[in-house]
Amino acid sequence: MNLILMGLPGAGKGTQAEQIVDKFGYPHISTGDMFRAAIKGGTPLGKKAKSFIDQGALVPDEVTIGIVNERLSESDTDKGFLLDGFPRTVEQAEALDQMMSEKGKKIDAVLYIRVDPEKLLTRLTGRRICSECGATYHLTFNPPAKEGVCDKCGGALNQRADDNEATVHERLQVNMSQQQPLLDFYEAKGSLKTINGDQQITDVFQEVSEILGVLTK
Ligand SMILES: [Zn+2]
Repeated sequence: MNLILMGLPGAGKGTQAEQIVDKFGYPHISTGDMFRAAIKGGTPLGKKAKSFIDQGALVPDEVTIGIVNERLSESDTDKGFLLDGFPRTVEQAEALDQMMSEKGKKIDAVLYIRVDPEKLLTRLTGRRICSECGATYHLTFNPPAKEGVCDKCGGALNQRADDNEATVHERLQVNMSQQQPLLDFYEAKGSLKTINGDQQITDVFQEVSEILGVLTK
């Protein structure tokens, strides 16, 4: 099975990816890992990517697509893979389709972990960290006994700067507007499988397993 995993940051993609890899044995191919491997391996594309990253610039599509193509040509992907962080745009999705058909393959399913953006906002903005010992809390899911005070050491609890509501809201908006055209693209192809991410991790994985179970029959 050739799979793509999609979802907003904080939707629990990482956890689901780990469990899919554990249960189904597909290699987890994330863009970040691919870049690191290509750069470490000193492939021509890796060197090219490094030159952009070193300048603090965005890696252009053709380089990213080339690196994905290199990775998907490795033999551990013969029985399937779980792609994470790619494609990010419809242009990249079209390039992926092209490279798959050149390999005589196709994308079997796009697993989209859908969460309510409002709930995601609560989840992401509720985090608090102890300024003394680094213990983490959550206002809704794991609150301290006394507001603003660490249970363990009595230190003051702070919010990380990039967890504040305006920043998180902005980040979600950007991600949602980038994601929507891709969801439409895969919906139109009939490969989009939407999973309810607003439930317990085990229940999310249950849904994922059922979809993959049906598809592999
Ligand atoms: Zn503390």
